[in-house]
Amino acid sequence: MKSFKILALPGDGIGPEIMKEALRVISATGKRHAASFSIEERPVGGASIDGCGVPLADEVLKLALLSDCVLLGAVGGPKWEGLDYSIRPERALLALRKELGLFANLRPARVYGALADSSTLKREVVSGVDIMVVRELTGGLYFGVPRGVEKLPDGTERGVNTLVYTTPEIERIARVAFDVARKRGKRLTSVDKANVLETTELWRRVVTRVAVGYPDVALSHMYVDNCAMQLVRNPRQFDVIVTENTFGDILSDEAAMLTGSIGMLPSASLGAGRHAMYEPIHGSAPDIAGKDVANPIATILSVAMMLKHSLDMDEAAGEIESAVERVLDRGLRTADIYQAGTRRIGCREMGEAVVSEIDG
Ligand code: NAD
Repeated sequence: MKSFKILALPGDGIGPEIMKEALRVISATGKRHAASFSIEERPVGGASIDGCGVPLADEVLKLALLSDCVLLGAVGGPKWEGLDYSIRPERALLALRKELGLFANLRPARVYGALADSSTLKREVVSGVDIMVVRELTGGLYFGVPRGVEKLPDGTERGVNTLVYTTPEIERIARVAFDVARKRGKRLTSVDKANVLETTELWRRVVTRVAVGYPDVALSHMYVDNCAMQLVRNPRQFDVIVTENTFGDILSDEAAMLTGSIGMLPSASLGAGRHAMYEPIHGSAPDIAGKDVANPIATILSVAMMLKHSLDMDEAAGEIESAVERVLDRGLRTADIYQAGTRRIGCREMGEAVVSEIDG
């Protein structure tokens, strides 16, 4: 029997509600696939600040380092907004990413047939879209030095940020992207601005070199401005996109919008070795917390990503994805994806519906 240690961090706002449904799905999967999941649940973010004064307790970080992976709900809310930046709930996420060395962010954008009309783009453009954006998460413009704003002798100011990548940093994210492409449609688009930025010219060369080890994956290159345009013009042309931090930040949000609902989108952050964290892309939605109206599907699909990318349980991951699809095809909807002619249900009932589809 396979056995895995998972650290569950529900967090704030709708976090506890959506986590409860995700844990139900993990338990159903464990039974079907003879896998044992040992789950430790701990507070994080605002809930941790309230309990012990810090957004991420040392004990929780230690558990994260010892676990096979971390499943996170969401953190933050108005209650903690007045606090100093150094102890805000969101610091917990940054600390986890840093301490676990999570350098690759995977954000799928998949349009479910039943929801194709929820997109702001036309059904014929978005139907069948299934894209994975692999974003470099710990380098580039957001971390490069020198950085800052300085006063100049003439009284004006000068702001500087640095777009910097080393060969090993590019190689490791490229390998993650090729591995992901290998498990999907075997097509990888590397996005850069190699015609203007030297750093991304290096990016293009290194990705091309890494491609030699993946003869089964078709690599193409695209400039970032063209990619932004192609994502709304003909998004079905993409399978996996790999890009640096800033470009990935922007393009993954653009790709997410193709799908129409923030409550449906999972994500994975992977590190070297086995560390990984899985979470929905949305926040803690304080406006709907505690009302049993949140959509738990993003967190449930984060569980599917966890099974696929960390636990080598591809078949179980596929079962969860199909179960979600069938629930949507049956016309069951939480408020965020509700359309006339469908049946509106709550967070709990949505979790139960997915579990009953998994159970068959
Ligand atoms: P948000 O994603 O929490 O909410 C945006 C809108 O989407 C809201 O109207 C909300 O009700 C809705 N929504 C979000 N998730 C939903 C779901 N699962 N089902 C149904 N509707 C859903 O973004 P925000 O309002 O900008 O931020 C709220 C808090 O969350 C802030 O404190 C912010 O800092 C935090 N935040 C946390 C994370 C994270 O934990 N990774 C990410 C983003 C924002």
